[in-house]
Order: sequence, then C-alpha cells, then structure tokens
Amino acid sequence: MTSSHAFPSVLIQGGPAVPVPNIYCIGRNYAEHAAELNNPVPGEPVVFLKSTGALRPLAAGALAFAGETFHHEAEVVLLIGKDVALGEAPGWAAVRALGLGLDLTRREVQSGLKAKGLPWTTSKSFAGSALVSEFVPCGKFADPEDLRFTLKVNGEERQAGVTSDMLFKVPVILAHLARHQRLMPGDLVYTGTPKGVGPIKQGDLIELAFVEPALSFKGRL
Ligand code: MG
Repeated sequence: MTSSHAFPSVLIQGGPAVPVPNIYCIGRNYAEHAAELNNPVPGEPVVFLKSTGALRPLAAGALAFAGETFHHEAEVVLLIGKDVALGEAPGWAAVRALGLGLDLTRREVQSGLKAKGLPWTTSKSFAGSALVSEFVPCGKFADPEDLRFTLKVNGEERQAGVTSDMLFKVPVILAHLARHQRLMPGDLVYTGTPKGVGPIKQGDLIELAFVEPALSFKGRL
C-alpha cells in the first residue's frame, strides 16, 4: 500500500524497499577532511539532519538545481535494522546493511551560515541532497570497520576513504545518537566524508564503489 504521506524508501539488494523515517549525518568524522575545511577535530560526534525529502536514489539522478555547483561528500551510509531505545549502545547489531551516499552540500551557503553561527540546514537539506545507493547486507563485508570506498566523478577519482580512519567508529556514533533519541528501523546514518571534497555540477557522472567486495553504483547529477 502506498500513500502520499509514506516515507521515501531505500532498496536492499535482493530484498525489500525500506521506508526511511530519519536521516542522521555525522560531520568532521575524518581528520584530514576536517583539516581541509579548516575545522577543528571534534571531541564528540558532530550530528546534523537531512529531511526525508532530501533522499534520492543515486540511480535516479539528483534534482540538481540548474546552474548551481555543489560539493560532493562521499560517505558510507548505515541502514538501521532494529529499534534502539534511548540510552542503548547497540553496536553493529543495529546495522542491517551498508550503502554509499553523497552528502551534497552548498558549501558557500554553509560557510556563510557557519560564520553567522546559524544552523546549516539549507546548505545540507534540500531535494536530492541525500543521494544513496542500494544497500548491501553487512554480512557481505569481511570487516565493516576496515572498508575501502571511492568516488569517481566523470571517470576521475576524487575521494578514497577507509572506515578505519573514522574518528568516531560506528558503535560510538550509534551510542551517541541514542543518547538523544531512539533509533528506528529504516533510519539512515551518513558517517562522514574523507578528504577530497570538491565541486560537482548538473550532468556530472557519479560512481561510488566499495573496493572489497567490488561493488559500484552509478548515477548522474
Ligand atoms: Mg558529510
């Protein structure tokens, strides 16, 4: 059954579509990325939100705003698979599957808002700003805490990261989130981007990939 009020959903490979109630994002979770934007390395996870209206399958192509240039932030995305009560620290047991996403950012807008001490929302949450691949069950990966991933734009490698470089690992992120609200099945968590963020514009070809096993996902902005 569908309804005009249903949450947008994501796909698990070989599995069902999963409605997404919330999209959490972690900022500054890789030291070299924090440094490239002249941000300090945080003492605890930096959390912000995107609306579910921002969600867009990578294969569907982003709703790029004509003439606008965004920054790409390639990130591993967690799909939460169970209820996590307030105060719980569920670790990896709460993660059903992993995907790759682009946290599209209006960097100049964000810089202006940061300078004024205002929320980042309009720079981070807009239609198509949460691009995401299909999800892959966690069991397909030998070690999700040592996962290599890459972003190519128009065939050129722009970002390459490994999750072992995260300042705050997945269990720490989930415990931190659950200190503030319960987590729900279908929630997404963007886990932060490695160094190499840069401009991307309408029409650019995006290829996000896991290295082992080799899985790639393509779309066009
Ligand atoms: Mg990001």
